[in-house]
Amino acid sequence: MKILFAVSECVPFIKSGGLADVAGSLPKELKKQGTEVSVIMPKYKDIPEIFLGKLKKKLDFTVQIGWRKQYCGIEVLKMDGITFYFVDNEYYFNRSGLYGYIDDGERFSFFNRAVLESLAHLNEYPDIIHCHDWHTAMIPLLLKADYQWKQEYSSIKTVFTIHNLQFQGIMPKGVIGDLLSLDYDYLTVQNMEFDDNINFMKSAIMSSDKITTVSPTYKNEIQTEYYGEKLNNLLVSRNEDLYGIINGIDELTYNPKTDDEIIQKYSYTTIEKKYKNKQVIQKKFALKEDKSIPIICMITRLTKQKGLELVRHVFHDLMKEDVQFIVLGTGDPEFEQFFRDMEHQYPEKCRAYIGFDEKLAHQLYAGTDLFLMPSKFEPCGLGQLIALKYGNIPVVRETGGLNDTVFSYDDRTGLGNGFSFTNFNAHDMLYTIRRALYFYSKEKDIWQHIVKSAMIMDNSWAQSAFKYNQLYAELISRSETHVYE
Ligand code: ADP
Repeated sequence: MKILFAVSECVPFIKSGGLADVAGSLPKELKKQGTEVSVIMPKYKDIPEIFLGKLKKKLDFTVQIGWRKQYCGIEVLKMDGITFYFVDNEYYFNRSGLYGYIDDGERFSFFNRAVLESLAHLNEYPDIIHCHDWHTAMIPLLLKADYQWKQEYSSIKTVFTIHNLQFQGIMPKGVIGDLLSLDYDYLTVQNMEFDDNINFMKSAIMSSDKITTVSPTYKNEIQTEYYGEKLNNLLVSRNEDLYGIINGIDELTYNPKTDDEIIQKYSYTTIEKKYKNKQVIQKKFALKEDKSIPIICMITRLTKQKGLELVRHVFHDLMKEDVQFIVLGTGDPEFEQFFRDMEHQYPEKCRAYIGFDEKLAHQLYAGTDLFLMPSKFEPCGLGQLIALKYGNIPVVRETGGLNDTVFSYDDRTGLGNGFSFTNFNAHDMLYTIRRALYFYSKEKDIWQHIVKSAMIMDNSWAQSAFKYNQLYAELISRSETHVYE
C-alpha cells in the first residue's frame, strides 16, 4: 500500500499544535507495520535551516490558480524511511509562521492543486491520499472533478481526518472559480456551499471516501448540535464512513526514560528521580523549592477551546490552596494578559511563560505534578497523553479524547490514571483539582498507584496505526470496512 499524507504542518519541521505531532509520528508507525508512506507539505520559511539545507530539488512546474500561473517546486528529504515532499512557492510560503494571513484561502488552494499536479510530474501515484484538516480539504473534490480522465488518478482513494472541526476554511463564493478553478456546478449544498460561502472542510466531508476523526468520543460528539459546528447533520449523513481512531504519541520523543531534554531521566520504578526535575523547575521559575508543594501545569494554546474561562473564573480560589501554578502557552491576548496579571498578583505561586518552547514543555511535563486540561471540546488532545507518560497526573474535562484516555480515580475500585469532571463548570473543575490535591498530599500510596497507572498506559501509535492500516486496506480492496474502534 502506498499512502500520501497531505498536511499543512509536520514535526520535526514545523509545528503549531497536535496536527504536526500526528503527521510526524503516525507515518513512522505505519511504515513499521509495512505501509509505504510519504508526506507532502508546504516549504515554509520557518522550517529550521538544518532541514532546509538538506532539501534536494526534484523538479518544478506551473500550477494554474484561477487566472494565475504559479511556480511550484518540489523538494525532497528522506528521513526515517519516509519521503517528505516540500511544495515550494516563495510568494505563498516564504513568510513567517504558518497561518493567519488574509490570503490563506489562496495559499492553501494553491497547495491542494499543487499536491494533485505533483503526482503526474513525479510519476508517483499513491493508492490513497490521506488529507488532514481544512488546509488540504479540497483535494478529494478536486480529484473527483478534474482528474478522473487519467487512469492513474481515477483509482486513487481519499481519507480525510478531522483534527479540529472548529477550523473549516470558510471563504467567499468567488473562490470557486478564482482560486479553485472549479465549475460553479459544484457550488451546491451537497458539496461545499455553506451559509452562502464556500466551506473547505464541508467539501471534504462530502467528497472523501472515508472520514476519520481523532477519538471515538469526538466522533460521537461532532454528530450533535453542541459540538458539530453546524456540520453535525452532514456528519450524521456520513456516519457509516466515519471512524474515531485515537491518536498516539511518539514514544521516541516523549519518554521520561530516554528524553534528552530533561535533566533527570526516570521511569515508574525509579519515580523518586522525577523529583530532581521538579527541583530544576522550581529553581528555574524562582518558586519555593519544596517537594511537598504540588505544581499544577498547563501547556497549551491559550484559546477558549482549552477551558481557560473556567481557570480564570476560579483562579483566586485556586491560589488559596497550597500549590504552585505554571502555564506555558501563547494565543488570545486576553488570556496571555490574564496569566501575566496573575503572575504579578501571586509572585510566590504563579508563573506565566508566554511563548512556544518545545524544550521547556518537556521539562514541565517531567517536573510538575498535575496537568490541567479542562477543555470545552478536545478532539483528541496530546497534552494529557504526554503528561500520563511522564507520571504527571491529568485533571481533565470528560470530552473528546480526554474522555477516552483519562479515567478518573475511583476510590471503590482503586482504578484510575487521573481525575475528571463532566460539566463545563468552573466549580466542578475546582472541586476536582481539590480532590486530586487531597490524594497528592494525604494519600501518598494511592497517589503513587495513580502515577504508576498513568505511566504504564500504552498510548503509543501501535494500535491506532493498525486501525488506519485496516481502514486503508479495506478501502483499497473495496470490501466492507470493519475497523475496530
Ligand atoms: P492542539 O492540537 O489543540 O493545540 P494538543 O493537546 O492536541 O492540542 O497538542 C498540543 C501539542 O502542542 C502538545 O504536544 C503540547 O505539548 C504542544 N504545545 C502547546 N503549546 C505549547 C507551547 N506553548 N510550547 C511548547 N509546546 C506546546
